[in-house]
Amino acid sequence: MSPLRCPDCDLPLEGRACVVAGRAGSLSGCTCGGAWFTWLQLEQVLGGEVALEPLSAQTARRCPTCTLSLTPVLLPGVIPVETCSACRGVWLDWPDVLDLRLPGLEAVLQPAPAQRYAGL
Ligand SMILES: [Zn+2]
Ligand SMILES: [Zn+2]
Repeated sequence: MSPLRCPDCDLPLEGRACVVAGRAGSLSGCTCGGAWFTWLQLEQVLGGEVALEPLSAQTARRCPTCTLSLTPVLLPGVIPVETCSACRGVWLDWPDVLDLRLPGLEAVLQPAPAQRYAGL
């Protein structure tokens, strides 16, 4: 199986383990600081049911798993992220990761300074 690729910079995503608020979780991370979660991974890391709120916006990014276009949505806390309507995977850019204020997540995603997300 070929590795999943980052929806933002197209580099291969790496499986990473994390510990967030004492809960062990996992995700696929990119050196740009972005993170791809399956729905199950997202609920594990955020510690329970996650409600996504639809946003009327569009994104050019595609799901690394299904290659369908992602859909912009809001995570609780009004954090704009992108989700796949087919597999329910969720993509977070590095600034979205910072908005979650979860040090355990920041620690495993911290991008190299030169690769830091530069904005849209
Ligand atoms: Zn990336
Ligand atoms: Zn998908």
